[in-house]
Amino acid sequence: MTPFAKSILNWYDAYGRKSLPWQQNKTAYSVWLSEIMLQQTQVATVIPYFERFMERFPTVQALAQAPQDEVLHLWTGLGYYARARNLHKAAQMVVEKHGGEFPQDIEEMNALPGIGRSTAAAVLSSVYQLPHAILDGNVKRTLARHYAVSGWPGQKKVENQLWEFAELNTPKEHVDKYNQAMMDMGAMVCTRSNPKCLLCPVQKSCQAYKQGTPLNYPGKKPKKEKPVKQAWFAMFHHDNEIWLEQRPQTGIWGGLYCFPESTHNNLQTMIDTRGIKDSTILRQETLITFRHTFSHYHLDITPVLFELSAKPDMIMEGTKGLWYNLTQPEQIGLAAPVKQLLDSLPFELMHN
Ligand code: SF4
Repeated sequence: MTPFAKSILNWYDAYGRKSLPWQQNKTAYSVWLSEIMLQQTQVATVIPYFERFMERFPTVQALAQAPQDEVLHLWTGLGYYARARNLHKAAQMVVEKHGGEFPQDIEEMNALPGIGRSTAAAVLSSVYQLPHAILDGNVKRTLARHYAVSGWPGQKKVENQLWEFAELNTPKEHVDKYNQAMMDMGAMVCTRSNPKCLLCPVQKSCQAYKQGTPLNYPGKKPKKEKPVKQAWFAMFHHDNEIWLEQRPQTGIWGGLYCFPESTHNNLQTMIDTRGIKDSTILRQETLITFRHTFSHYHLDITPVLFELSAKPDMIMEGTKGLWYNLTQPEQIGLAAPVKQLLDSLPFELMHN
């Protein structure tokens, strides 16, 4: 047994949780039910749900035979309803394929709906003392800190490293206690934002503690780079009026007013389709590109100002447009970057 496992087991004897409802009269069914409920949910929340489920569905057969509506009804408030649907399906599979007994083979257990490698290992180690390592969120955090494993555990490479440490330390004996102890450690000592290092049984060998940086582990999920799209705004203006068009009701800036927009820098088509004669364009000026950020992408907008010698009769098909008076602005909804642009227009233009 590794010194790490020894310290964890000693700590468990003194401080671990031993009176949780699913730790009494353990069966594969009751431990499995608790493990599914505990995924993404805290112990205190799970207890009354577990008790209600066990009362209504005392066996895997009772759960398998229940109508799905009733299972979902009893699950109400626990969230992540896919768990309840999988729970029900898994119960039916245990009855139909395994004669009502949970399989003791980890691969077969793993193949049941909603059961991953760690949940399968938790059930088998807890009920049958099979020496399988677990790696739930709590265990990942403790191991990542203890061994200073950097990187986000959602990455296969990092997760594999953590599995190696989990397996290295999982003892052949007292595996039920050890796995429960590791879950308790993560929930009670090596907690997410406020680890109680001074009370920790493995503090002496903890790398993150030595570095003084427990909160750096495990690494955070890398932020996904947002794609960058390009847009050109054509700002046709004559005297103190500037042309705006209403966006379609669906899509970005739905129903708001915006400058005519193009996804490429050749604005000639935009000019032609609106019936603007080239001869009326006195001046064309490309302004500085700026970025507008949506939840899923960045939009780099290049505004192009067209000064017109006369206000043309804009030809519009199926789109509402208006000449927006810069000195007496209309009460209309403006897309955010349009408002930003209008506010930053040169003083001379505003007061022409
Ligand atoms: Fe976690 Fe602190 Fe213990 Fe290290 S010393 S395992 S950071 S509680």
